[in-house]
Amino acid sequence: MGTPGRSVVVVGAGISGVLTARALALAGWRVTLLEARHVGAGSSSRTAAGIRQQFSTPATVRAMRYAVGFYRDFAAETAGGLLPIAQNGYLFLVHADGLEEARARVVMQRDAGLAEVALLEGDALWSRFPWVGRSIVGGTWCPTDGFLFPERVYMDGAARAVALGAQLVQRAEVVGAAYDGARLRAVQTTAGTFEADLFIDCTNAWTARLGATLGGTPLPVAPTRRYLWFLRRAGQISATDLASWPLVICPDGVYCRPENGESLLVGWAHDAAPEPDFSYESQDQVEAGFSHRGDLDARPFQAWMQLAEHLPAVGDFDGFTATTTGFYAVTPDHNPFLGYDPRVPNLIRLVGFSGHGAMFGPFTALAGLTLAEAGRDVVAVRLPDGGEVPLDAFAIGRTPRHAEALVI
Ligand SMILES: Cc1cc2nc3c(=O)[nH]c(=O)nc-3n(C[C@H](O)[C@H](O)[C@H](O)COP(=O)(O)OP(=O)(O)OC[C@H]3O[C@@H](n4cnc5c(N)ncnc54)[C@H](O)[C@@H]3O)c2cc1C
Repeated sequence: MGTPGRSVVVVGAGISGVLTARALALAGWRVTLLEARHVGAGSSSRTAAGIRQQFSTPATVRAMRYAVGFYRDFAAETAGGLLPIAQNGYLFLVHADGLEEARARVVMQRDAGLAEVALLEGDALWSRFPWVGRSIVGGTWCPTDGFLFPERVYMDGAARAVALGAQLVQRAEVVGAAYDGARLRAVQTTAGTFEADLFIDCTNAWTARLGATLGGTPLPVAPTRRYLWFLRRAGQISATDLASWPLVICPDGVYCRPENGESLLVGWAHDAAPEPDFSYESQDQVEAGFSHRGDLDARPFQAWMQLAEHLPAVGDFDGFTATTTGFYAVTPDHNPFLGYDPRVPNLIRLVGFSGHGAMFGPFTALAGLTLAEAGRDVVAVRLPDGGEVPLDAFAIGRTPRHAEALVI
């Protein structure tokens, strides 16, 4: 079988794939990045792109702390020099019966190194955020959280990978594979055949299909539709105020953040059956009952009413301007799979990001690089600050023990 070499094919050019390709190219790997359509053709261009370090386990807090630092530094590497992150903060609102749990979470997060997270109660909350209604008595607040400009991540990330020597091939859908024994030797695509020593699956919501094409292990990753709606500002909130709002999550799960000074992005998960056979086109299909052009009992209007209950000024906004939709790649515990495929020894899977793949991107890439360099599964990923993130919660074949509790 010989010593594995240092050529790698990464499949999928969303945020996970481009940042993984960049990390590998930086480390001296010969990288080919294959994309079925074009850079950002999947969920990465349909995302709310929130980035938070307020997670429910110390490992994910540390991983997301690394991600925030990465995104803050990333502009310095790119030709345009544009920051891909707006650190407006994240505010999880809680009712009185949620205070105790929120307090415990903040203690855990601070112990994990997130010194700036705090529980604001009563007047401390309302004086800091006067637009929060008085029915809400508390909120966990982290000012270094925020949201990403996703196209800056995947477009600048792809350009950076190419500048570092990676070959980017778009319109190259992986449709077949060739093996040496159990090891993958090459992938066949609609743009030719590509050989490599190592292969990395960054197709996320498509992973069941790519996994089957490559002879990999079936992973429990369910493509599940999610919506975003855009609400035009009006009333007492100025454009400057709105642009400075954090990403706010209400106790019932409805969330919002400024898209810009004139528009509020609103999201709210709903019970949805997985759509394993979704197509590129159906990524943008809006079902009856979810359009902003629908009746007042349509989901966006319910979300607006919920928001207005907790953030009364939003009730005076002008109306919706747009609906967008895309896929979460949902796993049973809402944690991704980051590891070698048990059936194909030179295939790494970095998939199943639920609603977290944009924020996970830098950590995903670091995990991918660590796994590639090791040539086998590893116990933990070492962060540049010397800290470690154990990978047991992300292992393929795990028994879910650390289900992510904060899923929106
Ligand atoms: C409405 C919504 C809100 C969200 N909100 C957030 C949020 O607030 N924060 C957050 O972090 N995340 C959020 N997410 C999730 C996040 O967008 C995704 O987890 C993330 O974009 C996944 O990136 P990716 O690169 O892994 O996958 P994708 O961006 O989907 O990229 C996968 C790529 O693989 C390509 N591909 C597939 N099959 C093949 C093949 N056979 N050959 C070659 N290429 C192939 C596809 O064309 C695609 O470009 C949200 C998602 C949605 C839909």
